[in-house]
Amino acid sequence: MKDYWQNYIDGAWVDGGAGRIDVINPGTGEKLAQHALADAADVDRAVLAARRVHLSGELSDLRPVERGRMVQAMGRFLLENIDDIAPVLTLEQGKPLWESRIEVEGAARYFEYYGNQAETVEGRSIPLGAGYFDFTTYEPFGVSAQIIPWNYPLEMTARSLSAALATGNTVVIKTPELTPLTNAWFAHAAEAVGLPKGAVNILCGLGHEAGAALSAHPQVNQIVFTGSVQTGIAIASAAAKNVVPCVLELGGKSAAIVHDDADLAAFENDVRWGIYFNAGQVCSAMSRVIAHDSIHDELVERIVGVAQSLKVGPGIEQPEFGPTMGAMVSDAQRDRAVGMITAAVSEGAKIATGGHKMNIPGAFLEPTVLTDVTPNMNIANEEVFGPVLSVLKFNTDAQAIEIANGTPYGLVGGVFTNDLNRATQAARQIRAGQVFVNEWYAGGVETPFGGYGRSGYGREKGREALWNYVQTKNVAIKLKG
Ligand code: NAD
Repeated sequence: MKDYWQNYIDGAWVDGGAGRIDVINPGTGEKLAQHALADAADVDRAVLAARRVHLSGELSDLRPVERGRMVQAMGRFLLENIDDIAPVLTLEQGKPLWESRIEVEGAARYFEYYGNQAETVEGRSIPLGAGYFDFTTYEPFGVSAQIIPWNYPLEMTARSLSAALATGNTVVIKTPELTPLTNAWFAHAAEAVGLPKGAVNILCGLGHEAGAALSAHPQVNQIVFTGSVQTGIAIASAAAKNVVPCVLELGGKSAAIVHDDADLAAFENDVRWGIYFNAGQVCSAMSRVIAHDSIHDELVERIVGVAQSLKVGPGIEQPEFGPTMGAMVSDAQRDRAVGMITAAVSEGAKIATGGHKMNIPGAFLEPTVLTDVTPNMNIANEEVFGPVLSVLKFNTDAQAIEIANGTPYGLVGGVFTNDLNRATQAARQIRAGQVFVNEWYAGGVETPFGGYGRSGYGREKGREALWNYVQTKNVAIKLKG
């Protein structure tokens, strides 16, 4: 592990104008490394480098298949270096080593997918009668600013970086303060595949300093953000002042409705992945289960069984896929989750299992299940962003939908039933950008993802995401009579 990691601006590794930040290993609570901290001047240099490359046409003028091949090669580069990247991700973020490997593979998959899509972005010709020839083209916006959260630093960067490059944009990435290290491999990948200097810039900086400077920069042409609602509002406001579009992915309080005819044994797997993967620090986590009265008690017993089966400890000691969970990203995030559990109990919720921080060094929280949660409680409405599942009850289908839709969020939702009519009705009625039927997280890089309501706007993943990175130009040609 290197002691000190630099920013990557205009093809060079550089110190930060704001000094350095300590990166803590949440699995031990100890200092892991230092990272350069960018200030507004560093951001300015990165944006101007990206703008220079954009205006040069070095990327945007390429035949798309050539760009696509470079993007795909970046994904292969990540896979070739997985043995180096995965341990660093575990040490900076806390997740089990096997989860880090899944994240590296997931990041590589974005480059494979969007590399493939590069040559599919085609315009159309519009008939205007014999006197004209008219066609549309899709052009890149220019400089894409991408502000990344700490929960999936590799996958979140890969998601937006791959699509932006595939469509011919240049990029400035602001990495998260808590988990900035692994993003360095995107710079190595950009160099390895021969992208021009300045096409990809990666810097860490404080949100209110470098993040704010980036989102307000007048030469940024498009912004992608994943993180909290509050920061999303600040970024969208900055984007509005420069009249540039942004994509916001702001988390959720997503619910699984479990009917009396659902396969409860199979649902255990959905609990495992839905709320305990990445210690619940997932924007689309299954943080609420809305259980039919008649199966509630059996379901809770099964869910508690899943929570109690998990071995919790430092992620670096968990190389093999299995029933394990790592640390949360920081003591502060863990303590915030504990505070929300305590408040829920004072409102009448019961702890079925877990609920406490663990008495070992590091940011560990017991896998937690809360029952007797009612829709009006804070815990039923606010994102915990931790391994904390709230179980609520329902009687009628209409009631289940009302509870599911009862928060300001709308990222994803799920319905578990053997009844096709019930499932399709619920899929229509759930106010969320993505609905899972009988498997939480069904789908993949190919399927569009994004929020209703305060979960944000714009779509990531799938072909839909490509349209975030291009603008339509219409060319109408008057022909000689
Ligand atoms: P955050 O929204 O503050 O941070 C996300 C990113 O935005 C970071 O890179 C940060 O530096 C940057 N940022 C912060 N303030 C900024 C500003 N004014 N201008 C521009 N960029 C800025 O999130 P957080 O503080 O790390 O976490 C707080 C809560 O957000 C979590 O508890 C969780 O509920 C939620 N969250 C959601 C996701 C998600 O995937 N939806 C990810 C991380 C956090």
